[in-house]
Amino acid sequence: MLLPDRMHAMVLREPGRLLELEERPVPRPGPGEVLLRVSACGVCRTDLHLVDGELPDPRLPVVPGHEIVGTVAALGPGVTGLVPGDRVGVPWLGFTCGACPSCRAGRENLCDRPLFTGYTRDGGYAQYAVADHRYAFRIPEGYDDVAAAPLLCAGLIGYRSYRMTGEGVARLGLYGFGAAAHIVAQLAIAEGREVLAFTKPGDRAAQELACRLGVDWAGGADEAPPVPLDAAIIFAPVGALVPAALRAVVKGGTVVCGGIHMSDIPAFPYRILWEERVLRSVANLTRADGLDLLAAAARHHIHTETTVYPLTDANRALDDLRAGRLTGAAVLRIGHPEGPSTA
Ligand SMILES: [Zn+2]
Ligand SMILES: [Zn+2]
Repeated sequence: MLLPDRMHAMVLREPGRLLELEERPVPRPGPGEVLLRVSACGVCRTDLHLVDGELPDPRLPVVPGHEIVGTVAALGPGVTGLVPGDRVGVPWLGFTCGACPSCRAGRENLCDRPLFTGYTRDGGYAQYAVADHRYAFRIPEGYDDVAAAPLLCAGLIGYRSYRMTGEGVARLGLYGFGAAAHIVAQLAIAEGREVLAFTKPGDRAAQELACRLGVDWAGGADEAPPVPLDAAIIFAPVGALVPAALRAVVKGGTVVCGGIHMSDIPAFPYRILWEERVLRSVANLTRADGLDLLAAAARHHIHTETTVYPLTDANRALDDLRAGRLTGAAVLRIGHPEGPSTA
């Protein structure tokens, strides 16, 4: 494949500012890396936290975007298992050291020296991106590039959060019904669980989407559930939902916080945590999570609801996400002047 020298990228120079369209050299893959010709990139709430300055120490300037779908355009030295033309997806966790205590204990999601796609290394709001080949997952057939993009973070973090609720959960509550929850809901329903969706109060569009996807109940997060929950996952970045979810789960129940950032959690009485209720967070992902989620999505024909924007409208996509004007997931479709991939 003939590679162009220059590409377009949307770049964050400083938190609190709009992304800027820049022309840059196409990056070259280093050892163990692949160059991807990006065709789609999901817009995640974490991108919003990055742009709004709610995440510490971003590498600036940075190209955001960590739900990358593209085809392999070039290989760096030492890459195995991928060839040019392969269609892959790249998630948030973009590199782990393999040597720190967490990596050695099989908890690479907690690596001491990680790189995060679109945060501490450049991401997919661009026509080309470089990625560690170990964190480039094959995209299952049956998903077009746009439909696959939300699986790579919303799906993956959602999946890890879902697994952390434990076995034997018959009734699952999802707080915040956006990109992650709409994927997890389908997975949980396919596995025979009852799902209750808690949206922003009055968000009829999200409640309708939840019902269309087959949940058993949808209502506002300010409402008490009609039945007690065995477990709950909080995807909305709203600390006040923690005591609400603890009140909604049965004794022994688990509440999982799936986001990277949350507003402060208000004080709550110990008795709503008492009786072995568990409150925990979920951080990042492992490669095993990636493989498991993509296989499960294909097996259960998980549908992703997407709103598509061109790359140059990344600021508008972020703004729509911030304002809650989106149902499902926002995805940038990345155009290439030389036409569709020749691979
Ligand atoms: Zn490590
Ligand atoms: Zn994300």
